Amino acid sequence: IQGPIQTDVAIVGAGPTALFAAFECGMLKLSCVLIDALDEIGGQCAALYPEKPIYDIPAHPSIEGGALIAALEAQIAPFDVPRLLGQRVEALSGHRGAFTLKTSAGETVQAKAIIIAAGAGAFGPNRPPLHGLEEYERSGAVQYYVRRRADFEGKRIVVAGGGDSALDWALSLSELADKIYLLHRRARFRGAPETLARIEEQVVAGRIEKIVPYQLHALHGADGRLESVEVADLDGNARHLEADTLLPFYGLSTDLGPIANWNIDTIRSTIPVTPSTLETSLAGVFAIGDIAAYPGKLKLILQGFSEGAMAAHAIHPIVHPDTALHFEYSTSKGVPAAS
Ligand code: FAD
Repeated sequence: IQGPIQTDVAIVGAGPTALFAAFECGMLKLSCVLIDALDEIGGQCAALYPEKPIYDIPAHPSIEGGALIAALEAQIAPFDVPRLLGQRVEALSGHRGAFTLKTSAGETVQAKAIIIAAGAGAFGPNRPPLHGLEEYERSGAVQYYVRRRADFEGKRIVVAGGGDSALDWALSLSELADKIYLLHRRARFRGAPETLARIEEQVVAGRIEKIVPYQLHALHGADGRLESVEVADLDGNARHLEADTLLPFYGLSTDLGPIANWNIDTIRSTIPVTPSTLETSLAGVFAIGDIAAYPGKLKLILQGFSEGAMAAHAIHPIVHPDTALHFEYSTSKGVPAAS
C-alpha cells in the first residue's frame, strides 16, 4: 500500500491561479501538489470557455482560455508538479507546518502549508424541491444536463425554466422527442427574439406545448419510472403532464462544498484573507483566486496570479524557517530546465 504523499505545499484546485502559484512555489524551492475535482487542469478556463478569447492577460492582447492553460502548464513543466485529478479534497486537518488532506479517491496528502485556489467551489444545479426527487435523479428520469442528446429520442419531456438553457434545449430536443412541454412560472420567457420566434414555430407545429404560468408541483410514477409531472398555477389549479423525463434548467449554484467544514472563516462562498499574505483565519492555510476575499478584490485572473506569488512568499518561512528569503528576479535566478 502506498503511503501518504508528502509535500511542502498542497494546492486545492488546478485552475489558472493554482497553476501560477505552483510556478511561484517552484521558484522558491517549495515542492507542491495540485489537486482538482475535475479530470483536467485549467479550472473555469478549460471547463467553461476553452475557445473564448481573454483580453486582459498582461502582454497577451488576446488569448483563448485553453491556450492560456497550455501556456501555464508549459511554465510549470520544469518543476514536475504532481497532479491528483478527478478527486475532490474532502477533509483538512492539522495545523501550520503539519496538515493532512484526504481526497474523495482515498489519497492522503501531508503538507506544511495549504493554498486553497478552489474558485467558486463546487458547481451544482439548482434542484427543484420535489418529494422523491432523488429516486428519479438516480434513474435518469430527472436530469440537469443533456449529456447525450440521442438518449431523448421519442421521449415525452418536461423542460422547466424560462431562460436560455431551457429554450435552447426545448428547441434542440423537439427535433427528436415525442413531445416537449415547456414549463415556466411566468407568462413570458427570457430569450433572444430569434429563439422565441423558433419556439413559436414549434408550438404551431405541435412539437412544443407551452405550459405557463405554471410551477412544478409533484412527480408521479414508481421505482424511478416517471409517469407524469404535476404542475400548478399560482391559484393552485393542477395539471398532470404525461411525461417520462423532467429537465429542470434553474441555473447553477455554487457552494464551497467540503471547504465549509474546514474550520476556516467564510463569507458567502468566499474566504476572507489578510491581503498582504493571503492567509486565511487558519494559520498556514492560504486562499487565492476567485475564492479569496479582501477589500478591493477583483475576480480576475491577473489578480489571482499576483496572489499566488504573495502566498508563496508568505509560505516560505513555514517550510524553511532557518533560511532567509532574499528577493530575486526570475531573470537573475533562472528556471530549471524541464525534465
Ligand atoms: P477556477 O478557475 O474556478 O478553478 C478552481 C478549481 O478548483 C476548479 O477546477 C474546481 O474543480 C477546483 N475545486 C474546487 N473545490 C475543490 C475541492 N474541494 N477539491 C478539489 N478541487 C476543487 N477572468 C479574466 O481575468 N478575464 C476574462 O476575460 C474572463 N472571462 C471569463 C469568461 C467566462 C465565461 C467565465 C465563466 C469566467 C471568466 N473569467 C475571466 C473569470 C476567470 O475564469 C476566473 O477568475 C478564474 O478562472 C479564477 O481562477 P481560480 O484558479 O481562482 O479558480
